[in-house]
Formats: sequence, structure tokens, C-alpha cells
Amino acid sequence: MSDELLSRMREVVGQHSEPSLARHAIGTAAIADWCDAMGEDNPCYTDPEFAAKSRHGGIVAPPATLDIWTRPGLPAQASLARRCGKDPLSRVMAMVEAEGFIGVVAVNSELEFARYLRPGDLLQGVQVMEDVSEEKQTALGIGHFVTTRTKYSTVEGEHVGDLLFRILKFRPGTGARPAAATDDEPKPPDASPALRPRPAINRDNQALWDGYRTHELRLPQCQGCQRVFFPPSPRCAQCGSFDMAYVVSEGHGTVYSHVAVHYPQAPGFAYPVPVALVELDEGPRMVADLVGVSRDQLEIGMPVEVDWLDSHPAVVDGATDSRGPVTLPRFRPAAPPRRTETRTVGSVSEGDPLPLWVLPITPTRIVAGALATRDFQDVHHDRDLAHKKGSADTFLNINTSMGFMERYVCDWAGPEAVVTALRVKLGAPAYPYHPLTFTGSVKSVDATTGRVVVEVAATNTLGRHVAGTVELELNP
Ligand SMILES: [Zn+2]
Repeated sequence: MSDELLSRMREVVGQHSEPSLARHAIGTAAIADWCDAMGEDNPCYTDPEFAAKSRHGGIVAPPATLDIWTRPGLPAQASLARRCGKDPLSRVMAMVEAEGFIGVVAVNSELEFARYLRPGDLLQGVQVMEDVSEEKQTALGIGHFVTTRTKYSTVEGEHVGDLLFRILKFRPGTGARPAAATDDEPKPPDASPALRPRPAINRDNQALWDGYRTHELRLPQCQGCQRVFFPPSPRCAQCGSFDMAYVVSEGHGTVYSHVAVHYPQAPGFAYPVPVALVELDEGPRMVADLVGVSRDQLEIGMPVEVDWLDSHPAVVDGATDSRGPVTLPRFRPAAPPRRTETRTVGSVSEGDPLPLWVLPITPTRIVAGALATRDFQDVHHDRDLAHKKGSADTFLNINTSMGFMERYVCDWAGPEAVVTALRVKLGAPAYPYHPLTFTGSVKSVDATTGRVVVEVAATNTLGRHVAGTVELELNP
């Protein structure tokens, strides 16, 4: 049966869809919205004066936007489902689903760019069925890999780039089963933050905890001698005054020392817990958890910034907790600065590491990314519907992940690095409140062509979210 299915599917290989035409030409407003969602500050995308003097001669669109412009808008989502059967991908999907391969997961996404897109470009995309694999046993189940290539061009016919997209259609329940946990293996404690011990809030520290709830890092200040200190105390150790107020810290500091806590294990924490003594720019040192970083990535002197954990909610099981909500200050590695001068190929060597980047993932970031990339699938903005579809929460869409990956590498390479390809293998979902940690290194450098390949991975507490390469061209 599977041979027969394979031969029917393979008949579709090489067939292409009707062109999908963008509803609007690329515009600077949509580019700016995309940049806002990604936190992208590259002036080639948003600053007309800078862009005019750059190699591009004017504003360009970030390369990672290639596949968003021909997408239908929000009202077209329903008609997309009805289009089923007309294009080669829908035909293959119908064939595999009829044979029970109803599970689907995106596996690879690769964007290749022939040139940067400019405001005014009106794009169209044609999807070609590139490959259907034979039946394979994967960790998720027995299935077929289905690969499409969408070729993008302007309406005048100029080719601007390609998207290669691979999905796995699998039979649920046929994957490798996780090894059953044995009784003698101790289970890690439940890591839900609400299970952490509540802080002892009293008159000496009340003002600080009140500030934390609004994500304001307050530090006690003696009104007798103006000394800023931590932890809070009823009486100044320097001048003896009892007159206390507070200052608001900017939340920046460096790691003074660090340790990883393995044992004893208490509920509310995921072990090992990296803990640092952080020296704040205002002077005092405070002990706090570190987030988005493992112990082996920690270094003394590493710049860090405050990150907030709303650990104990105001409402528990539908009732207001009379003790009030609790927010804990913790720290993450500070975001690496964006380079303003573009690197030359001669200044880059194979093996060069990129700085660690820990990116907080919030529901707002997920929704903003989905909207800016014109992806209206409900799992990226509607938690109730995401639950109904078996997902633990809403999650970042692929375009947003690729946008962050592009930004990460260009922040390191400089504003006029030319991105020629973005290739990713997709893994664990990026849910809200699980920060993504980006790491990277230079994989290869070709000094004659200026071609540089950077390997990038983004991981969270669930595992590897994306891993892949960003291909660049740098000037000699
Ligand atoms: Zn004092």
C-alpha cells in the first residue's frame, strides 16, 4: 500500500501552483512594523538617510520577510481551507491523510535571497512540489517528508528568492515511546514558580516588594547619609539613621560570583539553579537566580540585566489570594550591543563565537511577531484555541524565529552585512515565559568571495527551538 501511495504522491513532484499575488506592494510602514516586532534596529530598514548612503542606496526590507508579502490577509484564512485540492501540496496532503498520516510538524525552513527587497516591489510566489520521501520511521512516528519550494519574483518577472519548506506527515502513536520512568528513579520536584516559598514581607522591605510587583527594582537608601545598600535593614550600618527611603535601580550589573544549586531540591525550581551574586551599577550586590543561561555559560564579570518572575499570582483557583501577588527579581545576560560598523571578511575567523543573547518570550512578543509576519494562524495568538489543538500554549511562529535569528547575526556582523540565506531546522516550540538563548559561531569564511557562514542555535527549557545557518557576504 505504501508503494502505491508513494508512486501517486511522486506523480505530483515537479507540479506547481497558480501564482499567489501579493495584495499590496512592499511598503515602509509594514517594514517598520516588522522591525518593531523583532526589536530590529538596523538603519538600512528604517532610517532613510542612513539607508540612502548605504550599499543599498535606500530603504530595503529585511531578507527574512521574503515569504510574508504574498500571504493572504486575515479574512482570507477561511478560504485558504477551501482551496484544498487545487495546489500540489494540498493534493499530497489529502493523499497522506487518507492513509492515516494525519500528524504534521514543520521540519525545515530555508530562505535563499537573490536580492534585497525594496519598497514598491510587488511580489508573486509559485509553489513547486520538490520532493516526497519514502516512508520513514522518525521519533514522532512513521511518516513521509514533504518538501515544497516557493519561488518568489516581482510581477515584472525578476526572481528575488526561494523558500524551501519541509514538513513531516506522520501517523500519531507510531513513534519511539519514551522509556518508562522506573519507580526507583527520583522524580524532579514540580518546578512551577508558585510553589516557591513566599518571601517574608515586613515593614523594612515592604516598599521593595511593592516595587517588584510593578517590575521596578528598588534599592534601600539611607536618608541620613544617602548610602544605597542591599539587603534592606531598619538601621543604616554606616551612619545609624533609621530614616529609610529607596532609589530605583536601572537593573544593570555584572556577575560578581556564581554557583549552581543542585541539592537539596525544593519545589518551584528547575535544577540545577544558576545563582549569582550580582553587582549592580548603583553599587549594592544582590543574590538572585539567573535565567536563560547554564552554569558553563556563566562568567565572572558578565553583564546582566534584571528579568522579572511573577511567581505567585494575585488570583489562585478563581479566588484572590489575600497575601497578594509576588514578583521576584532575577537576572539574565545583558543583550549584546548592535554593531554600528560592518565587519569586513578579513576581521572574521572560523570558530569566532557570537555573544550569548537571551531573549525573553512573552505573549505580546508572540502575537506581535505573528501579526508582523502576516501569519494569522490561531495557535500564534489565541491560547484557548492553542489548547484545543493540543498545544500547551500559544507559540512563536517560524517567521518570527527566523527574524530573530537574522537580527542576532546582523547585530554581530553590522548593518551592511548582506544576508544571502537563512536555513533552519525546527525543534521544540517557543512558548511564553521560556526565554530563548541564542548562541552562534562562525562556521566558514571564504576570504576571496567574502562569503561567511554562521551557525546559530536557539534553545529554551524544552530543548533546541531552532538550529541552522545564516549565510552572509562581507566586504574585503
Ligand atoms: Zn546612613
